[in-house]
Amino acid sequence: MVAMETTATTEPIALLRGAGLRVTDSRVAVIAALDERPHSGVDTVLTAVATVLPSTSRQAVHNVLNDLTEAGIARRIEPAGQPGLYELRVGDNHHHIVCQRCGAVADVDCVTGHAPCLTPSTTSGFDLSEAEVTFWGVCSACKASQADAGETTP
Ligand SMILES: [Zn+2]
Ligand SMILES: [Zn+2]
Repeated sequence: MVAMETTATTEPIALLRGAGLRVTDSRVAVIAALDERPHSGVDTVLTAVATVLPSTSRQAVHNVLNDLTEAGIARRIEPAGQPGLYELRVGDNHHHIVCQRCGAVADVDCVTGHAPCLTPSTTSGFDLSEAEVTFWGVCSACKASQADAGETTP
């Protein structure tokens, strides 16, 4: 089950060069994995990368994800109670809706298209730079399985 999503240029080598990062097999494989499965955690990325680079370690994937995040190629989101999730959709200040049952994540476009999306009623003297909104709910797959009553797929 792969969620289809329209994305801008996600050509790994172009992204790495554009960010001034050295092109390595593991970086290319991690970008390809994130392109295929946005909002993936380290373990999901590792599983995908291991199909092309079987000797890759979890630590190596973790390091690559950190490098990509620092370089602005990837974005890390951390919905409460979930491990860090990574995606290639950066720079548009979009938000997320997360399923309370299965943890499925979907993108929600930023209302204004740029940060900060929302302005609080008081800023307490802070300079606002970002508003990261997480919506919580129940995804359609979980709603459907609930309707099937009893038939639960882990
Ligand atoms: Zn769900
Ligand atoms: Zn996203």
